[in-house]
Amino acid sequence: MQVPSHVEYERATSVEHALALLSRPETRVLAGGHSLIPMMKLRLAQPEVLVDINGLAELAYIRLAGDQLCIGALARHADLLDSALAGELFPIFHDAERVVADPIVRLWGTVGGSLCQADPSEDLSAVFAAARATAVIRSQDGDRTIPVRAFHLGPYETAVGRGELLAEIRVPVRPGTGSAYEKVARRVGDWSVAAAGAVLRLDHDTIAEAGIGLTAVGAEHFVAAEAEEFLRGRPVGQDSFAAAAAIAAEHCHPVADQRGPQDYKRHLVAELTARALRRAAARAGASQAGAGGRA
Ligand SMILES: Cc1cc2nc3c(=O)[nH]c(=O)nc-3n(C[C@H](O)[C@H](O)[C@H](O)COP(=O)(O)OP(=O)(O)OC[C@H]3O[C@@H](n4cnc5c(N)ncnc54)[C@H](O)[C@@H]3O)c2cc1C
Repeated sequence: MQVPSHVEYERATSVEHALALLSRPETRVLAGGHSLIPMMKLRLAQPEVLVDINGLAELAYIRLAGDQLCIGALARHADLLDSALAGELFPIFHDAERVVADPIVRLWGTVGGSLCQADPSEDLSAVFAAARATAVIRSQDGDRTIPVRAFHLGPYETAVGRGELLAEIRVPVRPGTGSAYEKVARRVGDWSVAAAGAVLRLDHDTIAEAGIGLTAVGAEHFVAAEAEEFLRGRPVGQDSFAAAAAIAAEHCHPVADQRGPQDYKRHLVAELTARALRRAAARAGASQAGAGGRA
């Protein structure tokens, strides 16, 4: 089936207008459409009304507000890749966006759409989880916030309910933080076979806090929680990172598919987690980031 079923189309002229439209049953937000339209063509999604939010410039921004980097849900992948502010504070965004799809998808696909699609292979879900970001969900009743780590309820399922819209993602900015993302795909522009992101906050050469996000390997909420816990309070260095990477590989749940068998994906998780940790530590200014750390 290559043709969507009948659908009504509404172009929202303001966030308030979008929220009013979304309060009706069987409505769906249309952002970049890169995931939703193919799903409609396959009839895996059959909304009765599409609410197009592409005109809402008020949701398309990347800015610093106090100690938080705030990213509007309608910021495009390309905007995040182009943002010097985002890249300076969190190089992990540029690492990831360079390998999300291709330039055409990045020009139109949105940060909010990526999170709301909740595809287990979505790169930004792991990135925002590693960064311990907060999602701002808006409705006619106002805003509510939820950690990105609690945002995804399962594959293709999020905490955004009827009449609601993901409006913004907030990333806490802390001194002494470094970050990195490492992905293996079968070819340029493809989805991950596996990927790992790390956000490290250091106190001199001790790890004060670690965030580790995993993509496409069945990690609960995209997070390697056991490995993060292991790293807290440990010295920066190859031994800590190798042990944490092994823990991350042990606790994820990859499935065998056309992208590879389980043991290969676990091997990738261990290798990519260690690489991401080394680069994150080097970027945070650690003197002992470990062999192979490159900024
Ligand atoms: C060829 C191709 C390759 C790709 N490769 C990759 C890849 O390597 N890595 C990767 O991470 N992604 C990849 N993607 C996905 C890409 O990142 C999409 O942009 C993303 O999945 C969806 O963003 P969108 O803005 O197009 O959302 P849409 O398709 O418009 O929407 C997706 C879903 O989110 C909902 N939604 C959108 N915005 C909001 C909002 N603000 N509030 C509430 N609900 C909302 C929609 O209703 C829909 O259910 C690829 C896509 C394509 C087509």
